[in-house]
Amino acid sequence: MTDTTPLVDLHALKPGPEYWERVTGGAVPYQHCNACGESVFFPRAVCPHCGATQLEWRESSGRGTVYSATTVHLRDVDPYTVALVDLEEGIRVMTRIDDAVPDEPPIGRAVLVVAGEIDRQPALRASLAGEGHDA
Ligand SMILES: [Zn+2]
Repeated sequence: MTDTTPLVDLHALKPGPEYWERVTGGAVPYQHCNACGESVFFPRAVCPHCGATQLEWRESSGRGTVYSATTVHLRDVDPYTVALVDLEEGIRVMTRIDDAVPDEPPIGRAVLVVAGEIDRQPALRASLAGEGHDA
């Protein structure tokens, strides 16, 4: 009889579910590669920078800067702003910015990203940090 047990449990290597568990627990998680020192996001089993598998979970401070943003207009829903935010740990995440003014994308502004929910699903949410609105 042949032993068909795989050498690596590929399902256990998929870090997506653990990422969402951590967001549900209130963290802004990302991975740090212990081989090359780079930050990794979205979570993976293998470091995209060096190919190593020594990735450990870390928690972002949530402090970041808006790289790109747009306002989403949907029927029967208040417009909301979706942004790509560069966090200080060197990763770029997608998030809503709850207090952004519609159609005034706050590109370059400081934000604080936190774990939250959107439509009862775990999600990252952000608010503008610091100086307040200029308008
Ligand atoms: Zn690496």
